[in-house]
Amino acid sequence: MTKGKFKTRECGKCSNNITKTQYSLKCAGTCGGWYHRTCTGLSDEQFLAYEKRKTDQKWLCGRCGRNRHSSSSDQSDASDPVPMDNPSNKDIMKTIQQKFSEIEKALNFNGEVMEGLQRTIQAISDENRELRKTQEHLKNRVAELEKEVVTLKEKVSKDEDEARKKRVIITGIKGNPKIDENAKKSF
Ligand SMILES: [Zn+2]
Ligand SMILES: [Zn+2]
Repeated sequence: MTKGKFKTRECGKCSNNITKTQYSLKCAGTCGGWYHRTCTGLSDEQFLAYEKRKTDQKWLCGRCGRNRHSSSSDQSDASDPVPMDNPSNKDIMKTIQQKFSEIEKALNFNGEVMEGLQRTIQAISDENRELRKTQEHLKNRVAELEKEVVTLKEKVSKDEDEARKKRVIITGIKGNPKIDENAKKSF
């Protein structure tokens, strides 16, 4: 039976099956898919030319056609000689040296800027160190003064004590009976 020999194919474009009665064409590209006659987008004449192999050209589906076109154009781009001046090596060296000196200048400039910044940073950190020293010194001074104050306070209270005792005695001599009594108690 010939019916069983027909293999059902799916159209590469519309994804519907291509039935036995429908005309179809195989893509000669990498996809190798089959396409309905209407899905090839060819005119009847063109389609028949491909189908009956009246042309040497092979049919490519839209995708394969585009791929081949773009890759072939890429190849031609690469192989086409790029029109450009053909400067001698001397000229190239001259240009390179110029570029290098430009870069060197730029680097030197940056270097100067960097040096300036470093100097400023150094000055600031020196100043900071000085300030910290001063601060440390002041802290120590304050601590010393605090100690002195404590000593003085102690001394003052001692003196006051002494003075009070003396005063008590003096007032005692003057004859204040109440303080006289207190003075007697404290001795
Ligand atoms: Zn189709
Ligand atoms: Zn294809």
